[in-house]
Amino acid sequence: MLVVLSSPSGGGKTVTTKLLLKKHPEFARSISVTTRKKRRREKNGRDYYFVNQKEFRSKIKKGEFIEWAKVFGDYYGTAIENIRKAEGKKEVLILTLDVQGALSVKRKYPQSVLIFILPPSLRELKKRLVRRNTDRPETIKMRLKFSLKEIGFCKKYDYVMVNDSLKGIVGLIEKIIIAEKHKTERTVDFLLKRLS
Ligand code: 5GP
Repeated sequence: MLVVLSSPSGGGKTVTTKLLLKKHPEFARSISVTTRKKRRREKNGRDYYFVNQKEFRSKIKKGEFIEWAKVFGDYYGTAIENIRKAEGKKEVLILTLDVQGALSVKRKYPQSVLIFILPPSLRELKKRLVRRNTDRPETIKMRLKFSLKEIGFCKKYDYVMVNDSLKGIVGLIEKIIIAEKHKTERTVDFLLKRLS
């Protein structure tokens, strides 16, 4: 099952994903490729695969991505290999993508589950971005402006939730995954085969 999490920058999707992975060894995360500069505390191969623009373009040419997008002036892409690697091994693959990426994954994999995490308020979102201390003030301003645009897309998602508490949204996502596993179209053939 592909579970795509989106939220505005600072909306909490990274920390949510970390907690989900810690609680569920049967879940995996898709590590994206990006041309963005590595932030303090980020590690190549753990947070992202950091490449330069030339390398990214070459990957596009070779058809290595299921989707890629330009976000805040940098390129981000999901390697097809990430999905192949998880297939048959992990129950759930979590992808943290912007709205463009999420919608193109949905087009290619209609059974994927799109979850949008809203901040409690725009004021709180700004506070989190400032507290995170990873971006320059002009970048924060740009990210906030972009957030409003992104939030407009949440209606296209399968689920939407407010990040009031980390524990709360992790619990909700776990419940969604359980419910999705029992969706008729996902499971009926397997269950009927077992009956006969
Ligand atoms: P950040 O620079 O804060 O890590 O990420 C910026 C935005 O890019 C976030 O919305 C994040 O979810 C998104 N993003 C990260 N990886 C990918 C990807 O592979 N594809 C797409 N379309 N967006 C991504």
